[in-house]
Amino acid sequence: RQAAFRTDLSVLLDQVGTGKESLSFMKRRIRRLAQQWATAANRLDSKLEQRWRDQKKILVHVGFLTEESGDVFSPKVLKGGPLGEMVQWADILTALHVLGHNLKISMSVKELQGFLGVPPGRGSCPLTGPLPFDLIYTDYHGLQQMKQHMGLSLKKHKCHIRVIDTFGTEPAYNHEEYATLHGYRTNWGYWNLNARQYMTMFPHTPDNSFMGFVSEELNETEKRSIQQNKVNNMAVVYGKEASMWKQGKEGFLQILHQYMEVHGTVYYETQRPPEVPAFVKNHGLLPQHELQQLLRKAKLFIGFGFPYEGPAPLEAIANGCIFLQPKFHPPHSSLNHEFFRGKPTSREVSSQHPYAEQYIGKPHVMTVDYNNSLEFDSAIREIMRTKVEPYLPYEYTCEGMLERVHAYIQHQVSLSGGNRITGPLFVPLPNSTALVWASNVTAPVAWPPLSSLRLLVSQESQSCVEACQSAGFICEPAHFRFINNKEVVDSEINHILPAFSVMRRECGLQRDPLLFSCAGHSPKYRRLCPCRDLRQGQVALCRDCL
Ligand code: UDP
Repeated sequence: RQAAFRTDLSVLLDQVGTGKESLSFMKRRIRRLAQQWATAANRLDSKLEQRWRDQKKILVHVGFLTEESGDVFSPKVLKGGPLGEMVQWADILTALHVLGHNLKISMSVKELQGFLGVPPGRGSCPLTGPLPFDLIYTDYHGLQQMKQHMGLSLKKHKCHIRVIDTFGTEPAYNHEEYATLHGYRTNWGYWNLNARQYMTMFPHTPDNSFMGFVSEELNETEKRSIQQNKVNNMAVVYGKEASMWKQGKEGFLQILHQYMEVHGTVYYETQRPPEVPAFVKNHGLLPQHELQQLLRKAKLFIGFGFPYEGPAPLEAIANGCIFLQPKFHPPHSSLNHEFFRGKPTSREVSSQHPYAEQYIGKPHVMTVDYNNSLEFDSAIREIMRTKVEPYLPYEYTCEGMLERVHAYIQHQVSLSGGNRITGPLFVPLPNSTALVWASNVTAPVAWPPLSSLRLLVSQESQSCVEACQSAGFICEPAHFRFINNKEVVDSEINHILPAFSVMRRECGLQRDPLLFSCAGHSPKYRRLCPCRDLRQGQVALCRDCL
C-alpha cells in the first residue's frame, strides 16, 4: 500500500494514551507543534513529487517508559529530570504518523506481547510465526524485554529492529564476541545488530543512523519581532536540576553577573535551591512553551557543562540566543567520565554540546575554557556586542526530520550483508599516496548510492570519522563493503580494518562486516575510509539519497 501524508494528529494523540506525566508531556508537545508538522508534511509531499512510498506496519515500543523497566523518568518530568528522551520519542511518533505509516504504540510488556501475537502469561514463549511488523522502533530496555518475551526468534527478526540510542553504540561494543574478548563489553552493547540500526539524538557517530528530533520554527514576522525585543543583558542558564549548579560555578557566574541579569529555570519544591545564588532570577521549571518565551527575550543561553548533548541549546539558538558552553580539555568519554562510563562508545565529547560546536559554531555558539576567566570575560562582552538571527539547521526542522525518516524507511531496508559492485574507483588521496581501488563486482543496488562514495586514506591514528570530516565528507559505513574486497589481501577480525599497516606496509581487510567501524583508529594503521558527500543541512543523506 501507498503511504499518504497525514496532517491530522488526533488519532495519534489517542494512541499515546493517558495516566502518566511523561505521556501528558509528549501530548502537549505533539499538540503544540501540530501546525508546524502539517506545513512540513505538505512541503515534503510536493518535494517528493508523487513518488511511491510503501506504507509500513510499524510498532513503537518505548521500553524506558514501561513499568517493567522501572520507569524512572515519568515521576521526574515535573521535577527537572531528563526530558530530552521524551522530546525525541514524541517527535519520532509524530514523524511516523505524519508519514502515513500503520502505527502501533506499546508502553508495557503486556501491550508488546499483544501486538506481537505472543499469548500473555506464556513468559518467554518465542514468537514462531512471521513478524506482524515491518519495523520495530524501541530502545535498549525494550530490546531486553523483547529478548525475554520473544525468546529465540528475536535472532530471526533482528533486522526489523531499530534502537533509539541517544549517545550511540560503536561497532566494537556491539559485536558480542569481539567486545568480550577485547574489553569493550558494557551493560548495554553486544546485541550484534548492524550498527546502523542504532539511531542517535545527534549526528555524532556515523556508524549509527541519525534520528534526531525537531525544534520550534519561526516565521519571518516572529523572527523580526524577536530581534526587536531582545534584551541585550539577559542570560538564561541551561540547567533545570539544582545539582547542575553545584560547586565551581561561582567564579564565572560572578563574572557573568557583572554584565548581565541571570535567569534560571531550576526546579524547586517550596524554597529556593541553595545551589542557586541569590542574584539569579529563578522561574522554576517551566512548561516548554514558556521556556521558549523566555528564550525569545534572552540574549545568552549559558551551559555549565551538564547535561550533555540535550535539545535545549538548539531551542535557544532557534529563538535567537547565543549559546555559550565550556570546552572540555581533555574531552569527556566513557574512559574518563562517570556519566559516560559503561556506555557502549569511546567517542570523545569535546564540549557540552559538540553538535552546537562543530555543526553550528560562531556567531550562534561560543565554546570557551571556563577556567580561564579572561577568556570567559571577553566571550561575554563579545556576545553582548554580537547581533545574531534565530537559526535552526534544516535537519532539526519538521521537514528535515520527515525527509530523513522517510529516506530511512524507504531505503535503509536490508541492514545486513550486501552486494558487491563494479569498480574501478579512482580516488585522489589527501596526502599524495595515490591509491587506486579497483574491484570487480556485480549488482550496484546500494543505498546510499555508490555515486556518493569518496575513498580516502586516513593519517596514522586517525579514525574515518575524522578523516572524512576533514575532507568535507562524512564516513558512510554502508560503503565499507565496497572497499573491503580485494581478494589478495589478508583479512582479520579487528575493528580498525580495513586499513593500511604502517609497519608491515600492507593492507588488511575486515573479515566480519559487523565490525566495519568509522570510529576505529590505531597508531599502527592508516584507515581505508569510505566517505560520502552530504546534503547541505542534512548530513544523514547524500546528494542523490532521496
Ligand atoms: N525544558 C522545559 N522546561 C524547562 C527547561 C527545559 O520544558 O524549564 C525542556 C526543553 O524545552 C527541552 C527539554 O526540556 O526540550 C530537554 O532539555 P535538556 O536540553 O535540558 O535535555 P535533558 O537533559 O532534559 O534531556
